[in-house]
Amino acid sequence: IKVEQEDNNIYQNNFKKTFLNSGRFFIFDAMNTEQFYPLFLQSGNVIIDSRKIEKDDIFFAFSGENFNAATLAEEAINKGALAVIVEDKDYEDTAKNIFYVPSTLDFLQQLAIFHREKLQIPIIGLTGSNGKTTTKEIIHAVLSENFDVQYTRGNLNNHIGVPLTILSIKPHHEMAVIEMGANHQKEIEFLCSIARPNFGYITNFGKAHLEGFGGFEGVIKGKSELYDYLKNNNQTILINENDAVQVEKTEEYSNKITFGKSESDYQFELFSEDNFVGLSYKDQKALSKLTGEYNFTNLCAAASLGLHFGIDFGKISHAIENYTPTNMRSQIAEKGDKTLVLDTYNANPSSMVASLHNFITFEGSKTIIIGDMLELGDESENEHRGILNLALNLGFDYIITVGKNFKAVNDTALSFENTQELSEYLKQNKITSKNILLKGSRGIALEKAIDFI
Ligand code: ATP
Ligand code: MG
Repeated sequence: IKVEQEDNNIYQNNFKKTFLNSGRFFIFDAMNTEQFYPLFLQSGNVIIDSRKIEKDDIFFAFSGENFNAATLAEEAINKGALAVIVEDKDYEDTAKNIFYVPSTLDFLQQLAIFHREKLQIPIIGLTGSNGKTTTKEIIHAVLSENFDVQYTRGNLNNHIGVPLTILSIKPHHEMAVIEMGANHQKEIEFLCSIARPNFGYITNFGKAHLEGFGGFEGVIKGKSELYDYLKNNNQTILINENDAVQVEKTEEYSNKITFGKSESDYQFELFSEDNFVGLSYKDQKALSKLTGEYNFTNLCAAASLGLHFGIDFGKISHAIENYTPTNMRSQIAEKGDKTLVLDTYNANPSSMVASLHNFITFEGSKTIIIGDMLELGDESENEHRGILNLALNLGFDYIITVGKNFKAVNDTALSFENTQELSEYLKQNKITSKNILLKGSRGIALEKAIDFI
């Protein structure tokens, strides 16, 4: 379908919607993945943030309100980009390798699919409500003992992050670990169609993103799309046999690697030392720098994969002992004579419960600073009340809440509307406890108060 130039924008947008939604192929006068692929193979990195462009990168100019794709395209070429993808026909300049596609996002995803099809390496896909990033990082550390492993950087786990990670896999890589996040149905199915994992692990089913998934049953259904993909393609499922839902969901499927029970493929024992969690395997031990017993299953998953790929436990232990979280997830930091537990990256009812139960075991006086758990929909009020009651029952020395949701249900503990207010308070008042836990949703950004503690 060719669209006349003057009507370009109106038609383009309408056609884009109609045809993309119908899932059919359509051809504009545009670049396609097959044609573009040889250029991609010569490129450095695929970049979507113009500030990060380096020589030989490919830049995808997403349209936005605050910037002009034409200027960005020029800037990219001036910085030495090998090619630029734009979604406005007017900005195309094939002589400069600036190519037009109807949708930058679709092209990014299509290119990733095309690239994945050419790759012969095993890909490990991870999803779950809590602990994806932590587990991904440890799996990467463990497998890197013997292999050249590419993995999701940071938390780039969505419909843009997954294709970017796939496109970052180079010929020298021997395997890849891909984190897949979701907050609604069919998202994992879609991400699987891009990443096409050969191994898959669901960290757990928890109370996270309840709003988008439609309650806890919705979470199980949505996350299990990973199992559906693996089963339909006869790929391997890694499961924690201690998790009844995981067992039930994979019961009739045999291509599995299992841990957690005495009859599982691999058995590990939990141990803790100085607030850190570790695992032992036969007569060998590995102590991590992570706090929280909930990290035990994360460690088990990584160790099981390591053993599966033939890495000796000595090396696995080395990887686990050397992995240092610096990402505000289950991280312990010393500040003066205080021990801070930094878990401000995110929070939902399941991870909050796990975190409080862990923190109560710390020796010495304890203050908790807990921030709102966002995206809980109708369950929000109940869940916030439940967490506050749990905190009161566990008996921390001081409880401070931050955020409107906690404030609404909190008539006992100290409460602030936001982190700014908390910071102002902390400038005047010092917390005296030896141990301080900070945990809340990303939107609350509790880490901004750390300097004032
Ligand atoms: P996101 O959805 O933001 O990508 P994620 O699933 O990647 O989150 P992490 O960032 O690894 O999760 O961990 C976030 C927090 O979840 C941790 O700091 C910890 O409090 C909690 N957590 C980690 N692992 C588990 C687990 N196995 N069970 C319960 N809570 C966990
Ligand atoms: Mg994550």
